[in-house]
Amino acid sequence: MKFGGTSVADPEAIDRLIAIVRQQIASTPDARSAPVVVVSALAGVTDALVAVAQLAEEGEADRAASALRSLVDRHVAVATAVTTESRTRAVDDVRREFDELVGLVHALAVLREVSPRSRDAVLASGEVVSSRIVAAAFNDHGIRAAWVDARSVLVTDAEHTVAAPDMDETRARAIATLAPLGADGTVAVLGGFIGATSAGITSTLGRGGSDYSAAIFGAALDADEIQIWTDVDGMLTADPRIVPQPRLVPRLSFAEASELAYFGAKVLHPSTILPAVAKNIPVRILNSRRPQNAGTMITSNGAPASGQLTAIACKRDVTVIDITSTRMLMAHGFLRRLFEVFERFKTAVDVVTTSEVSVSVTVDDTRRLDAILDNLHHFAEAACEREMAIICAVGENLRSDPMLFGRAVTALNRIPLRLVSQAASRRNITFVLRDADLPHAMMRLHETFFR
Ligand code: ASP
Ligand code: MG
Repeated sequence: MKFGGTSVADPEAIDRLIAIVRQQIASTPDARSAPVVVVSALAGVTDALVAVAQLAEEGEADRAASALRSLVDRHVAVATAVTTESRTRAVDDVRREFDELVGLVHALAVLREVSPRSRDAVLASGEVVSSRIVAAAFNDHGIRAAWVDARSVLVTDAEHTVAAPDMDETRARAIATLAPLGADGTVAVLGGFIGATSAGITSTLGRGGSDYSAAIFGAALDADEIQIWTDVDGMLTADPRIVPQPRLVPRLSFAEASELAYFGAKVLHPSTILPAVAKNIPVRILNSRRPQNAGTMITSNGAPASGQLTAIACKRDVTVIDITSTRMLMAHGFLRRLFEVFERFKTAVDVVTTSEVSVSVTVDDTRRLDAILDNLHHFAEAACEREMAIICAVGENLRSDPMLFGRAVTALNRIPLRLVSQAASRRNITFVLRDADLPHAMMRLHETFFR
C-alpha cells in the first residue's frame, strides 16, 4: 500500500491512512499477511528540500537554515498530533534527522556545491521522517508496525537522483527483512523514493519515485496486489477540464495506461509500475479521501473484451509540420535525414503520418522550430501549421473490433481531421485536428463511447 504526499500531508490525512490500513488488515482473512506500507514525503516537502539544496548551492546558508526550521516545525507538529505513547520518541527521531540535515546543508552552503549524491542525501530526509511518523502513529493506534529504513532494503546503482534498482539484491533483502514482518502480522513501513547503493550511500529513484518503490517492493515480495493511494479516484475516460463529468475507468491494461500517460493522464507514470506488471501483479489506484470507491485497476491484460474504447486523451497546442519532397521521398535515406533534423534540435515528434509524397509530424515543443524548418529546407519543402491538437482514443478492443474505428470517425462527422493514424499496436487511433475544434470533438467522442 503506497500513500502519496497528499495522503500523508497532515494529521487528518494520516488519520485517514490509519483507517484505510486498519480496514485492509480487517478484510484480509490471513492474519499472517500484513500489508507493507510505503509513504511519500509530506505534500510539498520534497519541493521544499529541492529549494533548500538550491539555496545551499547559492551559498545562502541562513536562508537554507530557516527553510529547514519551518520543515522541522511542520514535522514535529504532525508527529505530535498523530502519536500518543510514542510521541517523545517520534519527535526525537524527527529532530535527530533534521539536525543531521542542518549540518549537511550548512557544509554544502559553505562549499556552494551540491553534487547529485549530496542532493539525494538532502531529498531523502522527507521520506525518512514521513515513514517514521507513520510507523509511530500505527503503533499508537493499535496497528502493530515496524519502521524499516528503505535504504537498507532497496539497493540501487550509483546514478544519483535517477538511480535504478538492483532487483536481485533488493528481492533478497526484501524477503529477508520484510517478509518475516508480514508473516508475523506486523506492518512494515518504509519511505518511498529512496534507496542506497551497495556501498550504502543514499540514493533516490527520481522525482515521483515512490510509486516505483511500491512496485519494486511489491514485485520483490510477490504481493497479491499493489495499491497506490492518491487524491483522485483513478484514471478517467477523458480530461475533466475538457469533458465535463468523465467516467472512471475501472480497469485497463498496462499498455493502455502507457498510451494515456503519454498524452497527459497524470495519475501515475506507467514505467514506474513496470516491475509489478512484469510479474503480473495488479496495480490499483485508489482515492484516500474516498476509500470505499473501487478505483482503477491496471493489469497486464486489462478489461475483458467489451467492444468499447477505454479512454480518450488529448494534447493541445501542437504544431503540424508537413514535409514534402517530390524528388526524394521514399528514396532511401530520406527519413533518416528528416528525423536527424529533429534529433539535432532535440525536439520530440509525437504523431507521424506519411503519404506517397509527404511526411507529416507533430511537435509540441516549438522553441527550435525556425531552425528545424531551415534545416529541412535543405532537402525538402516544409510548412507548419500551429494551433493544432491531438486526440488519442485508446482501447485494447480496437484490435478485435473493426467497428470501433468507424464509430469514432462517424462521431467526428463534419469536424475536419488533419491527420489520422493507427499504429501497429492497434490499441489507439490518433486524430490531429484544429485546436479550436478539440473541445467539440472530445465531447462527441465521449458521448459516443461513454454515455
Ligand atoms: N517525494 C518524492 C517527490 O515528491 C517522491 C514521491 O512523492 O513519489 O518527488
Ligand atoms: Mg510526491
